[in-house]
Amino acid sequence: MTETMDEASNGPRCRECDDDLADATLPRTLTWIEDGTVVSRRFCSDECLEAWRS
Ligand SMILES: [Zn+2]
Repeated sequence: MTETMDEASNGPRCRECDDDLADATLPRTLTWIEDGTVVSRRFCSDECLEAWRS
């Protein structure tokens, strides 16, 4: 059996606390442009978004 560490196969997870976003009540997505590419990070809450930013 080969297991990949691909994020997509496990469903999205919070970038800050690694919680499963399927369980999040107020998931947040932060999106910006970096070198012409759209980059997005997903979080389970505003608190995690702010914690990751700081
Ligand atoms: Zn979180």
